[in-house]
Order: sequence, then structure tokens, then C-alpha cells
Amino acid sequence: MNKEEFIEELLKLNIEINDIQLEKLEKYCEILERENKLYNLTAITEKESVFLKHFYDSITIVKIIDLNNESLCDLGTGAGFPGMVLKIIFPNLKVTLIDATLKKCNFLEKVIKELKLENIKVINARVEEYAKIEREKYDIVTARAVAPLKHLLEYGVPLLKVKGTFVAMKGNIGEELNGIKNYENKLKIKEDEIINFKLPIENSSRVLISFIKLEKTDNKYPRKYNEIKKKSL
Ligand code: SAH
Repeated sequence: MNKEEFIEELLKLNIEINDIQLEKLEKYCEILERENKLYNLTAITEKESVFLKHFYDSITIVKIIDLNNESLCDLGTGAGFPGMVLKIIFPNLKVTLIDATLKKCNFLEKVIKELKLENIKVINARVEEYAKIEREKYDIVTARAVAPLKHLLEYGVPLLKVKGTFVAMKGNIGEELNGIKNYENKLKIKEDEIINFKLPIENSSRVLISFIKLEKTDNKYPRKYNEIKKKSL
């Protein structure tokens, strides 16, 4: 996806990107290319692919949620997707990026510094640990390509404020919705919307799914990682 195609596809999402934002994304892409040689952060570094599969793909979350003036926590953000990109496109967002891998967190700190971004922080932690302490804090929790949906819900929902929204971004959702009713009942959430679409140009499938938090989460969630892995709710 070249620059013109990127701008045009964003317009279809009702996003008018300005020159400063575009410059920031180009710089982000350069830093990613440079640092990837040293730290192997992502499989995709060729500029047109980064713009399509990382930047544009991250922004497609606007199909399912409104992102003005909210606090957002991105679980397993990796090299910053979708959280860092959303911060650049929606400067008023307050963003927290979490990843368990230190080298990715160091990379994210470099990007924040070089792009002079404000109101964005990086947490090097496992989400299930972080969710034990930072409870009921965020309007939106996101995760792209991180873990099975059920695991993500158990980690992510405790971080949300009541009425907050959890959004998972996936390539496909397959069997992951089987047994999700139990999760809705126990975590006191309600499935809100599922949107299927295709990425432009290469036409690969994408799914966005959102849940609304109805009530405060019981302190027993999230369970320990071993239990989460072993047994569904
Ligand atoms: N969201 C990014 C990265 C996906 S790869 C993208 O779409 O490109 C998954 C990332 O999640 C990895 O960087 C890994 O370190 C992180 N991760 C997986 N499980 C995690 C957990 N329980 N806590 C924190 N980070 C986790």
C-alpha cells in the first residue's frame, strides 16, 4: 500500500490524516526497519507492507469503536500494534502499551522518544500480572493477534472500567466463540458486535469483535496463567 492508497483508504474510514501524522508514521516505519535488523521485532518491515499490514490494519479498529478522548490499554502490543498507531492518529488518546518482552518495550520507548509522543506509556509485564493491580482503569482494552479470545477476555476485562469496551482484532475467529457465554456470565460482559472484512489490496480476512463490561469484575479474575491455560471458565 503506497502513500496515496493509504490516505485514500483512511478517507473511506472517515479519517483525514495530516502531514505531521504521516511524517510520524514514516519515521516509525524507518525506526522499525532499522531496529528490526538488531532485534527481530516483526516479520514485516518492507515499507508498503508495514503501511498496509501494520498501520492501516491497526486503524481498522475504528470500524467498531469510537476513539476520541479515551484511555486505551493495548495488550501484547509487540512493536506497537494497534496502540502506537492509534496514538499517532488520535493524539487525544491516553495510551498504555503492555508487552512481556523487554526488547519490544525498549523499541517502543525509542519510538515514543523519537516521535515526541505524549500521554503514552510502556509497561514491561505479563498482562495477567498487570490486571491484578490496575483494575477498572481503562475505557478501551485492545489486543491484536495475541492469544485465544477467552484468555484475552480474562486478562483484559479486569482492566476495563464498567461500561468500557474490549476489542480483539484477529485474522479469523473460528471456534473461539464456542463456550463464550460462560465468559460473558462470569466476567459480566456482553458481546457487542462482530465485524468481518477484507484488508484492501491483498484481500486477507479480518475480524473485529467487541464486548461491553456490564459490572465490576470479581477479584478472582484473572486466574493464574496455568489455570487459564488448563481450564476454561
Ligand atoms: N499486537 C502485536 C503483536 C502480536 S505478537 C501485533 O499485532 O503485531 C504477540 C505479542 O504479545 C508478543 O509481543 C508477546 O510478547 C506478547 N504477549 C503474549 N502474551 C502476553 C502476556 N500474557 N502478557 C504480555 N504480553 C504478552
